[in-house]
Amino acid sequence: MKILFASGGEDPERWLPGLTKALPHDEFALEPNPGVEVALVANPAAGTFENLPSLRFIQALWMGVEKLLADPSLPRNVPLARLIDPGMVAAMTETVLAHALDWHRHHYRYRAQQAERRWKPLPQLMAGDRTIGVLGLGALGADAAQALRAHGFRVLGWSRRAKSLIGVDSSTELSEVLRRSQAVVCLLPLTTETRNILNEKTLSLLPEGACVINVARGGHVVEKDLLAALDSGRLSHAYLDVFETEPLPAEHPFWTHPKVTVTPHIAALTEPRTSIPKIAANIERVRQGEKPEGLVDVAAGY
Ligand code: NAP
Repeated sequence: MKILFASGGEDPERWLPGLTKALPHDEFALEPNPGVEVALVANPAAGTFENLPSLRFIQALWMGVEKLLADPSLPRNVPLARLIDPGMVAAMTETVLAHALDWHRHHYRYRAQQAERRWKPLPQLMAGDRTIGVLGLGALGADAAQALRAHGFRVLGWSRRAKSLIGVDSSTELSEVLRRSQAVVCLLPLTTETRNILNEKTLSLLPEGACVINVARGGHVVEKDLLAALDSGRLSHAYLDVFETEPLPAEHPFWTHPKVTVTPHIAALTEPRTSIPKIAANIERVRQGEKPEGLVDVAAGY
């Protein structure tokens, strides 16, 4: 098959040696051409999908596909699969644990105290004293929730349908999850239902002094509402990996805010070593006329 690698945001040199090894009988191209049957894409250049009359399958190289779905040239009748990459799942869980432990062990406060040369031990809490809410219990959220649980935290997840994950409480009521969560982790996909989901009203449901960890998409948070909740002292800290505008503009208040930890959208990067076998398996499924893994409901926008 002719396979187009038109990622945008992913370097072909990191991918092509592994892809050609995993799919030795297929032909790879870096530019669109009418013979292309499969497109591998992350954030492709405008117009990539125009004039691909033989296209039978689109495989995303990222787990979130909201940018692809917003592309008017995306063919709506060609199956689109998002990537479910075990390496990325592991990376995200590590990031969530790192932020949760930084918050739980007061390290963000000790960093501020160090800047003031202040020696002041803070009261120790046990992980079991803390409830962490996880919004989204999909491929990423379920793994992170279980790892938090394994570290002793009480974990309460929110998803459209209730989930049975060992040791993790699950609810379909957002207000209940927020009221009970001293820290909230956002791992939702960005859809019309979840855009701006962390706003003045929902943030006000969190207990006094709660912490927000957003590692999903910037569009989930109303940034001015989050800033107001941090400035008023209602929230203790925010760990933000994703932003409404990326790269985060130099003048944005998040950069210098004492209660915000900024990272440059690196919570979990696609890992070619673990995703190439998954991509190759999906292309084999398409070749055999089988259903690929991770199919997106293009009409529903998620
Ligand atoms: P997923 O497997 O599709 O899981 C999404 C979860 O969100 C599911 O549990 C789903 O509920 C829940 N959900 C969706 N819409 C909802 C709604 N309206 N109300 C309540 N729950 C809702 O997604 P994933 O693979 O875990 O990825 C989540 C997101 O992480 C991606 O879309 C991407 O934007 C982001 N991400 C960020 C990075 C980074 O580096 N910062 C890296 C990778 C991914 P059901 O289970 O009931 O359907």
